[in-house]
Amino acid sequence: MTTTPAKKAKGFRSLRFDILTIFPKMFDSYVKESLFKRARERGIIEMQAHDLRDWSTGRHRKVDDKPFGGGPGMVMKVEPIDRALKELLGKNRELRIENQAKTRVILFSTRGKKLDQKMAVRLSKYDRLILICGRYEGVDERVAEHLADEEVSIGDYVLSGGELPAMVLIEAVARFLPGFLGKYESLEDIKGSYPVYTRPETYSPDKGKKAWAIPKVLTSGDHAKILAWRKQKKQHS
Ligand code: SAH
Repeated sequence: MTTTPAKKAKGFRSLRFDILTIFPKMFDSYVKESLFKRARERGIIEMQAHDLRDWSTGRHRKVDDKPFGGGPGMVMKVEPIDRALKELLGKNRELRIENQAKTRVILFSTRGKKLDQKMAVRLSKYDRLILICGRYEGVDERVAEHLADEEVSIGDYVLSGGELPAMVLIEAVARFLPGFLGKYESLEDIKGSYPVYTRPETYSPDKGKKAWAIPKVLTSGDHAKILAWRKQKKQHS
């Protein structure tokens, strides 16, 4: 799944995501939808999911092995990840600079720093993000120690892999790229968004039961009042 933007939209910079995963196909449908499709066409985002098995050695394309010290499950090996990064980053690996692009290598981990809007803003300033998706019991700790710039968690729960966290991070970050949201330029700031309603103005879910109405202020035509209402609701959300 490679993106070669036909024509980069004027005035917008582009952010490239490289995803290292053993399930690259999981990203196919996601990036072909709506905002992402458009952002890729306009060159705001470039994205490629790489199959980590392409950097494994041996006939069996093994990317995992048993944990030292025993215990259940398998652990993702350091070699394929190191080899992938060597190839993706080229000679300038130590400097994290490739063609003058600012690059950040992120490992998804349950022990990582929790993703929030602030982190998304910070990461949106890079030119390239390389996202390493763990599977099994996790990733050989030497990846965190020597290869990744930071470890990121998307919340206090355990998922089966880093693929959904990667999609969550990509989406959270992409929203801060100029031009990504187009005319729907961000509704929210760090404190979250206000409640929204659309037609019909009153909805009757069941006969004889009270209809569901919308707050009157929203149809008052009084913009100052509407703004104040939204501000107040935002603070309580
Ligand atoms: N035994 C490990 C869990 C491994 S889950 C532990 O308890 O920490 C397998 C992989 O899924 C992890 O290596 C990580 O890449 C990813 N993952 C699971 N939950 C995650 C979360 N909340 N945030 C980010 N990545 C997560």
